[in-house]
Amino acid sequence: MLTPDRIVPTTCPYCGVGCQIDLHIKNEMVYRVDGRFDNNVNNGKLCVKGRFGYDYIHAPDRLTRPLLKGDQVSGVRSTHHPTSWENALDTVATRLRETREKYGPDSIAILTSAKCTNEENYLLQKFARAVIGTNNVDHCARL
Ligand code: SF4
Repeated sequence: MLTPDRIVPTTCPYCGVGCQIDLHIKNEMVYRVDGRFDNNVNNGKLCVKGRFGYDYIHAPDRLTRPLLKGDQVSGVRSTHHPTSWENALDTVATRLRETREKYGPDSIAILTSAKCTNEENYLLQKFARAVIGTNNVDHCARL
């Protein structure tokens, strides 16, 4: 059995249950995930995704940078170009502002995700209502 270089406690990224996990790391690679017992959420137990679904962390084709559609950079559609987080966030903010000014706040809807934490979902609905000015908020788990 491998001895980890370090064990990092964190929260499973797959759903809002928020199971607590330990990432076992060797040579900067996650090679094992265990459920943590020091909590009242999962008491050491994990579903199959939470225990084994981490190959994507080291996948060579994983997206690691934001991408902008080509028409926002060079006028070419349906291609994507890597960009900085600052530029990506500026672009999103500009587009949201332009859309709200042109079509009104209810032309925008915010779709959140079960992969977000409760806190992140709370912030997204707050952003929709207090910043954008719309109650168009929904969540993929509602279905
Ligand atoms: S281990 Fe399963 S139930 Fe727990 S947070 Fe992850 S996906 Fe959800």
